[in-house]
Amino acid sequence: MARFIFVTGGVVSSLGKGLSSASLAYLLQSRGYKVRLRKLDPYLNVDPGTMSPFQHGEVFVTDDGAETDLDLGHYERFSGVSAKKSDNITTGKIYNDVLKKERKGEYLGKTVQVIPHITNRIKEFIKKDSSKEDFVICEIGGIVGDIESLPFVEAIRQFANDIGKQNSLFVHLTLVPYLKASDEIKTKPTQHSVKELRSIGIQPDIIICRSERPIPLEHRKKISLFCNVNIKNVIETVDVRTIYEAPISFYKEKLDLQVLNYFKLRSKKPVNLTPWKKITKIILHTKKHVNIAIIGKYVELKDAYKSLDEALTHGGIDNNVKINLIRIDSEKLKVSEIKSKLKNISGILIPGGFGKRGTDGKIAAIKFARINKIPFLGICYGMQMAIIEFARNKLNLKKATSSEFDKKGLAIIGLMNEWNKDGKKIKGTDKNLGGTMRLGSYDAKLLKNSMIQKIYGKNLIKERHRHRYEVNIAFKEKFEKNGMNFSGLSPDGNLPEIIELKNHPWFIGVQFHPEFKSRPLAPHPLFSSFIKASKNHK
Ligand code: GLN
Repeated sequence: MARFIFVTGGVVSSLGKGLSSASLAYLLQSRGYKVRLRKLDPYLNVDPGTMSPFQHGEVFVTDDGAETDLDLGHYERFSGVSAKKSDNITTGKIYNDVLKKERKGEYLGKTVQVIPHITNRIKEFIKKDSSKEDFVICEIGGIVGDIESLPFVEAIRQFANDIGKQNSLFVHLTLVPYLKASDEIKTKPTQHSVKELRSIGIQPDIIICRSERPIPLEHRKKISLFCNVNIKNVIETVDVRTIYEAPISFYKEKLDLQVLNYFKLRSKKPVNLTPWKKITKIILHTKKHVNIAIIGKYVELKDAYKSLDEALTHGGIDNNVKINLIRIDSEKLKVSEIKSKLKNISGILIPGGFGKRGTDGKIAAIKFARINKIPFLGICYGMQMAIIEFARNKLNLKKATSSEFDKKGLAIIGLMNEWNKDGKKIKGTDKNLGGTMRLGSYDAKLLKNSMIQKIYGKNLIKERHRHRYEVNIAFKEKFEKNGMNFSGLSPDGNLPEIIELKNHPWFIGVQFHPEFKSRPLAPHPLFSSFIKASKNHK
């Protein structure tokens, strides 16, 4: 049976529970154990699919088509294990399941309650699909003390009681602030947070203390004494210079070792930190920069394009350059300013997006990249905009558009049931916004001798999708005759997956999201190639 590690947070959110969990996963894996990571989110949305990136950061997509919290991206990037639908639940999903069952009369007339019905459903989820793992690390979103996280905390308390102390471990991550005015480190918030946790029945076994500066031994002792945790299990995590340093830092603090000691397990292999050291060195010490512009709607919130930022960094690591990201708000980008704003840019990237706002700026920037032969990567909406730009300006189809934002124009981009005569639909296109998209991993066949085929070095690829609209295949010939190849198609030949310009050093659009599959230890070939081209530009 798997051993379960529950990670809760205290004092404030955004302390890096996800990164701590992901780093611990890597270290345990490196010591020879099989690990899965799970996230339990207390909000009421059934999944984050309908949440704005402005509020909640990026929506991460798994191979099996789940729209999940962005922490699952961290998990994948650090552990190398592809997440599944069954690795993320929300309060909304749990209630949805329980209420559906109630409507079907499956509770046989009983009163349906938070305890035991909601907590039981949470427990079922925690355990699901875990028999082959040595460890399952479950992160509870939010912080202890929030009203909405209570059923989750209660469920993990019960769960640990069911499987026994020898199979379960509680890690609590808190903040140990430094007060500049008095030049002091304060342990009180940690003490209070642990008190809160204990009042709902959980005694942490390990406390991770996030701090701006090293925590002196006497303060650690205080935490150990007041929180009833062995001093060896009071672990500090001082701010790292790059997230890729986190596994190195947790290893130095012996987090993984203390976890193994707790379970009375031995390391099967020595930990390999070499790749992280190599990456950290490149990120911190490489002098050469390449300027990449991301032109999108959500540039103000850093986490809105989390996987994309990471994938670009990975591409940089592979090419020994640092990525200087220039975030440009597409809504504010005036056509007249394009030239000056993109003056020192070596690569232009248009990410995924939804809705009309900001499309004019994006289309103008694509034109600039196409004509001036600047490396360009269009992802999902970015590819759709590249199609519209080419149709309007090169094919002279001035009314070319997407039915997503213009119902009257020439819809080169549209819903499949709008343009497919045989009425073939992809996974339903009803009015409900949640869960109506082409989601998850799909195959694409690559055109022989195309640029994309050379980049991947394969004929068939699998990439993750998240979109409703498709490029209409009927226009393929017209585009290809005029210099834009549809160089990747769905295996049935109906859906354009990749486009590329023939007379351009590097101009590629993809209908999928390659960023979800890039990992620091295995950079995605598309991003490596894009950065290489950008590095060589000018
Ligand atoms: N809005 C577009 C669609 O639904 C693109 C989505 C995206 O970029 N993820 O097809």
